[in-house]
Amino acid sequence: MNEPLIDIGVNLTSFNHDKHDDIIERAQQASVEHLILIGSDIGDSQTTVTLAKKYPNCFATAGIHPHQAKTFTNSSLDLIRQLAAQPQVKALGEMGLDFNRNYSPQPQQLSCFEAQLELATELGLPLYLHQRDAHQDFYALIKRYRSRISNAVIHCFTGNEHELADYLELDLHIGITGWICDERRGLHLQNLISKIPANRLMLETDAPYLLPRDLRPKPKKGKNEPCYLPHILTRVSHCLDQDKNAVAALTTANAKRFFNISENNH
Ligand SMILES: [Zn+2]
Repeated sequence: MNEPLIDIGVNLTSFNHDKHDDIIERAQQASVEHLILIGSDIGDSQTTVTLAKKYPNCFATAGIHPHQAKTFTNSSLDLIRQLAAQPQVKALGEMGLDFNRNYSPQPQQLSCFEAQLELATELGLPLYLHQRDAHQDFYALIKRYRSRISNAVIHCFTGNEHELADYLELDLHIGITGWICDERRGLHLQNLISKIPANRLMLETDAPYLLPRDLRPKPKKGKNEPCYLPHILTRVSHCLDQDKNAVAALTTANAKRFFNISENNH
């Protein structure tokens, strides 16, 4: 029996809905015990909460991704607040800044992010954060709010040593995806990962995105799934030179504590 895992980043609504049952089933067979389903805008967060109600081993986040910041309106915060009142919602997000693709204009990304940080100070839920090519602005905002927000995870951390040090100084958690399995882009992470304190590390697939590049055999459709989380665990354990079951136990314990998942809320 393998140690149970928690995939803290699954974009289940990005899969066709007729695939959901099989994805959840395959995850469970792979010892991925719980999934955190990520909402990316209001409508998507509503669907995500509905899915978390349908699948008892799944939980949800509610929030507006920086790509969707342009959809932020006066009513958005109230709608997130309503979703956050549901017991399935364990964090706010995905939120943050993405100046790499700029799918929403930067000023709108900044105001949408800050509004959600403000809401977080009221609700007390932890945050699921996204940052790409925006470290300075992102770090400045998080630093300003840090004392008033409970906890936050930098999801899919791919940054450098300096960025990691900034986040750890603010006592943030770090989410590691299959990016670390990428022999072109992930090599620096393989060295950095040992600098993450054991009680701040969590694992995620970011499915259906970021299929680990060294996964064999490659899935036919090339889509990532939560059932591949053990593959990421193997790589992370190897980089840390630690036993797989030990890393599984510790990252699962971290995720349970971070997302406030208790043994009896299966
Ligand atoms: Zn993201």
